[in-house]
Amino acid sequence: MTGKKKLLSLAVAAVALTAGWLAFTGAGRRTQFIIGGAMINIGYRLQDHLASYDFEHGHEISPEEVWKEVQLQNALAATVRKWFPRTERHPLVAMVVCMDARLDTNELIGDTRRYYYIIRTAGSVLSEREEEMLELAAENGVELIIITTHSDCAAEKAAASSEMRERYPALAKAVDEREARILEFLSRPRIGPQISAGALAVKLINIDTMTEKMLPR
Ligand SMILES: [Zn+2]
Repeated sequence: MTGKKKLLSLAVAAVALTAGWLAFTGAGRRTQFIIGGAMINIGYRLQDHLASYDFEHGHEISPEEVWKEVQLQNALAATVRKWFPRTERHPLVAMVVCMDARLDTNELIGDTRRYYYIIRTAGSVLSEREEEMLELAAENGVELIIITTHSDCAAEKAAASSEMRERYPALAKAVDEREARILEFLSRPRIGPQISAGALAVKLINIDTMTEKMLPR
């Protein structure tokens, strides 16, 4: 074998070994997951500072112009999705998160595989509808429900100010009832026994909005 051929076969063997390690070992799959998360982060870091390219701050653009831009962005995203259809996943986790724009559930977990059902509500408050939706998710195989609150929450601030309470009475009332709603959910006839049996876990956590760290409540 000539030197060139030897080098080529060595390179092919190295590539095959690496591909096999990535695909068939636990450490290899974990490495792919982490690299994927890092690439998502690169995407966020590239876009995060772009303030004046599409949605001008200071509201210089009209609502219809914003809508046009949203449609453009969606068209681009949908085209990419067509090329790379998402793998079907069976969600194992359901998360309840406030609608605050700073909270990004993909970034929070670093996971784009859709193992998560996400319910977003004002102030992370459950209504009976969401309680039923979570129960349905548990029936469909969800094993962990994470109910979150977060720091610097506009809904909580509104509920804490008498002036704002007058302007947003329904929102304030919902925030007042948040804990009672959680207890109501935990004691539902199909939820309580599942938790006792160890088939379902419900965690209450608080998200630090600035660092996205999940802290126990
Ligand atoms: Zn909030």
